This record gives sequence, C-alpha cells and structure tokens, in this order.
Amino acid sequence: MIQPLEELVEALCTLPTIGRKSAWRLALHLMERPEQDALKLAESIVRVRQKLTRCKRCYNYSETELCPICSSASRDQKQICVVEKPVDLFAFERSGRYRGVYHILGGVLSPLNGITVDKLRINELSMRIINEQPGELILGLGGSADAETTALYLARIYRQQGIRVTRLARGLPVGMELEYVDQITLSQALNERTDVHYES
Ligand SMILES: [Zn+2]
Repeated sequence: MIQPLEELVEALCTLPTIGRKSAWRLALHLMERPEQDALKLAESIVRVRQKLTRCKRCYNYSETELCPICSSASRDQKQICVVEKPVDLFAFERSGRYRGVYHILGGVLSPLNGITVDKLRINELSMRIINEQPGELILGLGGSADAETTALYLARIYRQQGIRVTRLARGLPVGMELEYVDQITLSQALNERTDVHYES
C-alpha cells in the first residue's frame, strides 16, 4: 500500500473516537483539500505541543506561567473548582456560568488501577488551600464510582480544615463523565450545588 498514507491513518486511529473508517476518511480528506489547509493543521499541532505548558497554579494548559483564568481580575480567585481533566474545565467554561478558578487533579483515585493519592495533584491542592485560603472548594467531579470516592476523600480532608466544600447537585447522569454532560445540565448542577457535610 501507500506507506505515508497508511502511517497517517495509523496516527489518526490513536485519537479518541476515531476508528479505522473515519481515519481513512480524514486522511483522504486532507489529501483532497488544498495543501495549505493540511499544513496549517500540522503546524497548529506542533505549536500547541511546543508552546503550551501547564499553569503553575491550576495546571490547565497555558502559554504563560499563570493561565488567563488564574490571572484574571474578573474571576473570583477565592472559589476553586476541582476537576479531573482539562476537558472538564472546558465543559465548565462552555457553560458560561462559572466565575471562579480551577484546580486540575489529573484524574480520580482508583486504587485498583494504581491511581493513589500521590499520583494526583492532591498535595498541590492542599498547598494551594493553605496559601490561598479559598472561601469555597467546589468538587466538580464526574459521576463515576471512582469520582465519588475521590470527592468523599477530598471533602473529608478539607472539611476538617474548616474549608467550605460544595459539590455539584445530584441530577447528573450516574456514571457519566462531565465532558459529555450538556451545558444546561452542567449549569444547573453548578447553580444548585450543595454543601458537603461529611462526618468522619
Ligand atoms: Zn491557572
């Protein structure tokens, strides 16, 4: 077969939701479009990979040491929403309702899969809480069992430290990842968030 084309298909197949058939369609599409378009796409991939780093405060992707959200005067810097992954942050941003800042954990606790406390940015969160003394910590985690365990774990530590901990309202589909929740449901879950009273 045509080697470079096969290689492109293989590369595209590694992307989420892209199966072989879609990969072929995309690869051929890139061949049929003007060369300029395909090069622009390739260059923007190189650019994000080379230019973006992690915000040193919230761990979102950023071009600068502090991301635009962490350095914005119009965001409530005392309200921290804890999310699993950057994709969840973008889900909250799309909903347009959230005016606080974030903390990206990098996953949820899953001891069976080797994801223990030290594998996530929980120490970093604890440091932030000491340094920043937030008024509220919102647990913006998904509906999976592991997310639930993580939420309870975090709520217990920070409630003991006297921090107000809230969580998204029930009504998010059970087991669903936040990134697939529609904007209206997510805004509602955020608006109707509840205080966690975890007694240990
Ligand atoms: Zn940031």
